[in-house]
Amino acid sequence: TGDSADYDSEVASVCPFCGVGCQVSLKVKDGRIKYVEGIDGPANEGRLCVKGRFGFDYIHHTHRLTKPLIRRDDAPAKGLNVDPGNWQTHFREATWEEALDVAANGLKGRGREVAGFGSAKCTNEEAYLFQKFIRQGFGHNNVDHCTRLCHASSVAALMENIGSGGVTATFNEIENADVAIVIGANPIENHPVAATYFKQFAKRGGKLIVMDPRGQALSRFATHMLQFKPGADVSMLNAIMHTIVDEHLYDQQYIDAYTENWDAEKAHLKDFSPERMERLCGIPAETLRAVARDFARAKAAMIFWGMGVSQHIHGTDNSRCLISLALMTGHVGRPGTGLHPLRGQNNVQGASDAGLIPMFLPDYQTVTDDGVRSAFTEVWGSGDFSNEKGLTVTEIMDAVHDGAIKAMYVLGENPAMSDPDVEHARDALAKLDHLVVQDIFITETANYADVILPASAFAEKTGTVTNTNRQVQMGRPAMSPPGKAREDWAITTELARRCGLGWTYSHPSEVFAEMKQNMASLDNITWDRLEAQNAVTYPSLSPEDPGQAIVFGDGFPRPQGRARFTPASVIPPDDLPDAEYPMVLTTGRQLEHWHTGSMTRRSTVLDAVEPEANCSLHPSALRKLGVAPGGMIRLTTKRGSITLMARADRAVSPDMVFLPFAYVEAAANILTNPAVDPYGKIPEFKFCAVRVENAEDS
Ligand code: SF4
Repeated sequence: TGDSADYDSEVASVCPFCGVGCQVSLKVKDGRIKYVEGIDGPANEGRLCVKGRFGFDYIHHTHRLTKPLIRRDDAPAKGLNVDPGNWQTHFREATWEEALDVAANGLKGRGREVAGFGSAKCTNEEAYLFQKFIRQGFGHNNVDHCTRLCHASSVAALMENIGSGGVTATFNEIENADVAIVIGANPIENHPVAATYFKQFAKRGGKLIVMDPRGQALSRFATHMLQFKPGADVSMLNAIMHTIVDEHLYDQQYIDAYTENWDAEKAHLKDFSPERMERLCGIPAETLRAVARDFARAKAAMIFWGMGVSQHIHGTDNSRCLISLALMTGHVGRPGTGLHPLRGQNNVQGASDAGLIPMFLPDYQTVTDDGVRSAFTEVWGSGDFSNEKGLTVTEIMDAVHDGAIKAMYVLGENPAMSDPDVEHARDALAKLDHLVVQDIFITETANYADVILPASAFAEKTGTVTNTNRQVQMGRPAMSPPGKAREDWAITTELARRCGLGWTYSHPSEVFAEMKQNMASLDNITWDRLEAQNAVTYPSLSPEDPGQAIVFGDGFPRPQGRARFTPASVIPPDDLPDAEYPMVLTTGRQLEHWHTGSMTRRSTVLDAVEPEANCSLHPSALRKLGVAPGGMIRLTTKRGSITLMARADRAVSPDMVFLPFAYVEAAANILTNPAVDPYGKIPEFKFCAVRVENAEDS
């Protein structure tokens, strides 16, 4: 930090990394961000983590795209073979006119042959325009984004059982709780500023219950650390709920007033006694009972969860259990209570709210409803589009292999790194006869592009983003995009015009105004208000209301206002260990690196701290392999094999490997299983069978 002499200007914006949505002040000197400070946003109150504070210089990286590029006629065959610093063998520079024409000509008139992946890194307005472009332009709903790889199963369970996909309370509400469960999440690494509130909660005497197959730093603050067997979430949670029923700890008054299907849930739980479940989930019965008592007897309790819950073929069932646990104890809708799936990307909440998903239009209005579709086509001034739910991220890649989809528009998404069984996705991208990629770097996905459109980073654009707390926040530009790069909303608008859609937007505020016409969640939230106040939580009940931090105190947006219990049975993971692949592989993020690494690996400080592909094993597992910490190992699954450096980590159980997915040179998703949850269609990134070998032997 420094004083005002250190910079020419300062701009208030929002951190581009995680869903916490910390507000930042960008200090700019000579057209570059010199440093970043936290400011007093509703989610961060001035706090920042290492990514928000030091992870900004990727936007000035020499790899930034500054001009549109078109694949050369004499380019090598499509593959993961482009050097982002030396791309001239594959692409040639083009004017915007030419690049947009080529991009549009390859898409227009192709109807169902086209699909789109938007981005949770873009603004709400950009996400809205992207889904509108696919629906209005091509007449169907084959549009999706990385929520499919993140919390889609949580949203499926929340929509089904409480009628809303957002959190019921902000994470800051933990200050009013006396018990909190954090399950399948590692907030110190993945939501670091939210974690500071969790630590404060524990320090002031709150009971923090951490549940995760992998140990983690937050367990130091926990009253209970339940390191359960990977994939055994449902057996553990049902055993806890069994105890609550068995010991009559449930809140009958709340259940009678606000829920349905209780009798079925209660009957279902009979078979899940802690004594029966302890072998399945690996947690002693007495611990399960103690946790059940603490949670049920709390005056106010919250549940936070992450992708350890959602990224399973039973991810929706996992979330159903968490919802049932909160409902049976009446821990929803009051201060210090609630359900909170910690959202991953900075704008995955907003992009989902804006309809960037194949089954829902903005505000989760279903595409199968004729009245809903006509409300949108009326505002859009266009004809109807399909009433069939569209294809999801992994289904779109399958449809490319089947030949049904032949052209794609990918904005800010990186399926060549992020999809499960990623060679399948890379082969699909290579097979497309037209791929338009809009991004700030030549990502792994852009390697396969026919046209690359140079886009803008967060500090170069105007627009709103919505964090995990349902807080809609204003992002502002501190500088212009480099060279001829443009803001994403403007690129999509130009492409739409060339596809004959007649869009006339000249500023994101016009898009926001259009969104409000069919998004009740934005009632009382205006562009001017966001400009003045930086953040408003939805729902906001009046122009003066800062927004409701807690919702559903007086019923749920479901029939008769009642939430539903949906019983969940135990479904084992899809790809279980055997003699050939005896260990369990789980993937995730590290504190310093963000998702596929396109931004953080180009950030000097973050890359200096974590420069090399690595994975973590228990010291005893490494000893067995004869590998010293820092040595090289080979991981092999039924999909493929990678070699990388191994770290010793006692937090990982001896039969498990933890593998971060940010490193292209040892891409985790070469190994992962594409089997999906049937409801959320989310892949099982958190569990597959793996063989581990000493790579130094070969
Ligand atoms: Fe950015 Fe998330 Fe860190 Fe806040 S906690 S500074 S939003 S990465």
